[in-house]
Amino acid sequence: MSEHAFATRAIHAGQAPDPTTGAIIPPIYQSSTHVQDGIGGFRDGYEYNRAGNPTRSSLETQLAALEGGVSALSFASGLAAEDALLRGILKPGDHVLLGNDVYGGTYRLLTKVLAPWGIVTTTAELSDPDALRAAIRPETRIVWLETPSNPLLKVVDIALIVEIAHAAGVLVVVDNTFASPALQQPLALGADLVVHSTTKYLGGHSDVLGGAVVFGDDRFVEPVKFQQFAVGAVSAPLDAWLTTRGIKTLAVRMRQHSENAQAIAEWAAARPEFAEVYYPGLSSHPGHAVAARQMSGFGGMLSLGLAAGAEAARSFAESTSVFQLAESLGGVESLIGYPPEMTHASVRGTELAVPENVVRLSVGIEDVTDLIADLEEGLARLG
Ligand SMILES: *Cc1c(COP(=O)(O)O)cnc(C)c1O
Repeated sequence: MSEHAFATRAIHAGQAPDPTTGAIIPPIYQSSTHVQDGIGGFRDGYEYNRAGNPTRSSLETQLAALEGGVSALSFASGLAAEDALLRGILKPGDHVLLGNDVYGGTYRLLTKVLAPWGIVTTTAELSDPDALRAAIRPETRIVWLETPSNPLLKVVDIALIVEIAHAAGVLVVVDNTFASPALQQPLALGADLVVHSTTKYLGGHSDVLGGAVVFGDDRFVEPVKFQQFAVGAVSAPLDAWLTTRGIKTLAVRMRQHSENAQAIAEWAAARPEFAEVYYPGLSSHPGHAVAARQMSGFGGMLSLGLAAGAEAARSFAESTSVFQLAESLGGVESLIGYPPEMTHASVRGTELAVPENVVRLSVGIEDVTDLIADLEEGLARLG
């Protein structure tokens, strides 16, 4: 599939019709084990489904094709994928350098779950090359970044970070959940590995949890696959199938998410109620030029800082109706959240804390006129 363009790969990679019946959609192999033709005589390599399942394989092929990787592994959640990656690559004493605005759950996994096993984690402002160089230690094994970041949509230059990290012999992992591979391809920019919460844009319909690791080369496939098998946080067949189904419309969804978010950002930038509009598609955004270079669209996530402060932000998050108040992001339906008490409650009071006047929007693909009218009504309810 690699000679085809992105939208074609998203629909066809790993999706060959069922060879037995010709069913155009590969079936959901809802089975925990496979019959052997004599001891060790596996059909197509399948044995027991913690080790492998055909529906999961079809998703993994599709995921690798989306990111231009050599292979991919699919997990029960984004954090399960991150955990397998980290445990597959790190050993006690290793240091991980995180961007200072990464997903709170990633920070929690490293500092609460993996720290007692000897993994050392610090954070740095990765948009500052000198800060990055200064934060790399002899024990640093991984630089971990997100761009655009959550929830302040900060943009960092992936190719520049790769250059600095690789010069020091350090791996670069990009959490590409926010942009999705439809808009940004970190492996092509030199990153070593990509992780996803497929729960978000890849699944795209808020109906399934999942995660993935995509490998730029073969070095870490076996150790991470071993974690997947030995620990067992694998995708269930139905979950893998739903994710595959969502991915087929990723290219067209991301175009509409980006178009709607751009219109809302421009509307918000002209409203005095908002002191800040965090959206990389605005030319006033500090990361606009880098985003325009390394992304093919600016995505569907945007945050707004209420001029009237924290109480106004809290109330605004409870005042809309098409935008529904919920955690998560990346679905076709629009969501609003108050990060300090919702998605980012676990980092309140830490160096990753979010300003208290911020609401985060996951802009869906409804009609944008309805979305803007809904936000206007929400503002009116604030009085
Ligand atoms: C949601 C999210 C995760 C964690 O994924 P789960 O599927 O919830 O485990 C990781 N990174 C980012 C950027 C996310 O938004």
